[in-house]
Amino acid sequence: MISKILIANRGEIALRVLRACKELGIATVAVHSTADSDAMHVRLADESVCIGPPPSRDSYLNIHQIVAACEITGADAVHPGYGFLSENAKFADILEAHGITFIGPTAEHIRLMGDKITAKKTAVELGIPVVPGSPGEVLPENALEIAREIGFPVLIKATAGGGGRGMKVAKTEAELEEAVSTARSEALAAFGNDAVYMEKYLGKPRHIEIQVVGDGEGNAIHLGERDCSLQRRHQKVWEEANSPALDVEQRMKIGQICADAMKKMKYRGAGTVEFLYENGKFYFIEMNTRLQVEHPITEAITNIDLVHEQIRVASGNGLSVTQDEIQFQGHAIECRINAEDPRTFVPSPGTITHFHAPGGLGVRVDSGAYAGYKIPPYYDSLIGKLIVHGRTRAECMMRLRRVLDEFVVDGIKTTLPLFQELVDNPDILSGNYDIHWLENHLAGDKSH
Ligand code: ADP
Repeated sequence: MISKILIANRGEIALRVLRACKELGIATVAVHSTADSDAMHVRLADESVCIGPPPSRDSYLNIHQIVAACEITGADAVHPGYGFLSENAKFADILEAHGITFIGPTAEHIRLMGDKITAKKTAVELGIPVVPGSPGEVLPENALEIAREIGFPVLIKATAGGGGRGMKVAKTEAELEEAVSTARSEALAAFGNDAVYMEKYLGKPRHIEIQVVGDGEGNAIHLGERDCSLQRRHQKVWEEANSPALDVEQRMKIGQICADAMKKMKYRGAGTVEFLYENGKFYFIEMNTRLQVEHPITEAITNIDLVHEQIRVASGNGLSVTQDEIQFQGHAIECRINAEDPRTFVPSPGTITHFHAPGGLGVRVDSGAYAGYKIPPYYDSLIGKLIVHGRTRAECMMRLRRVLDEFVVDGIKTTLPLFQELVDNPDILSGNYDIHWLENHLAGDKSH
């Protein structure tokens, strides 16, 4: 049994995990940098430990300090949230060596999925459909041959990729050499690893991902999909469950493929299998071996608390539900509220002077922000998430429109005005959008 969880994260996700722990009667330890002493997750935790100065590498990424904080407080488990150390296999190994439970998959599974070439190979072995692409690493000398085989346009991607960095499109043979060398140098700068691979570039896909949870013993379930096609610079902005593009049969089919794959792997914990979806076909792009930012929309339509499930399986207590017991009810949308200019997405740190979160039926706000809160400039700009649930997609939109009018965040710029615009857009209302829609829209292109 787990009795005390150290939450190795900050912001809204630290708060989210803390809430689940409180419900389960588990004591909580917050960790924080000196820039986050006043943060809500620190205020609400049973105990807190300062783990270092503001830069993440000295605090939230500092494994040594986090393990020391576990020892000092007697925490017997760590929840890593998302980002930071959540997909760091070495961290999972070190915790295990100290007899501390890592609330997540095995280090071996994190490694397997963390390298995108290995992840793709594993996906093929597990029966998951993938994007046609290079069998392994692409080098300047074999790039042309591989690209001709795949067919242009192609996408060069970093093996160690994340956050859309190190990705370059080559539309023609003439563009290939430069795309490969730019992707390699970007990958080296971002990840310290210049290995890249190649995929067929899909022109107008949707991004659809499947939520899975496994108990590590060979049982696994899927909780349907999320449509995260509305992105800018490969970062998600608005997510929906279910996808407006899938019917029940398609949902259950791809969901079952993923659940079966997790059973074969004996996967433990929550995970997300990400696909591009075009012309009725799914193409695996990667698997995230952690909780995702957009997990609450899945919780809204299934009524299952994913953090509870993560803690249960990490404690060896198994899943609380079987596949047959899961019912998908209604529709949910999440808007990511970033402290950013709503057109340019330039960060807007500063002090929030007024803060009023909306409420009412079907409304959830996950945020650590409050009036008087000073947003530190050191971390990502997500200050909260607005999740709205309705019986139908139309009802969900109606509710979202009302809720956006009610939400007040003053003193800084936020992405709220963008959502007010989107909620009245005919393409969004009809669900007719792909992964390029938002960038085209922001660039003023009305033809999409
Ligand atoms: P990262 O780990 O950097 O986020 P992903 O593989 O998850 O990289 O891809 C991020 C995004 O990049 C996808 O959601 C999609 O918008 C785009 N993308 C990735 N692969 C392809 C592809 N083969 N064709 C077209 N777009 C792609």
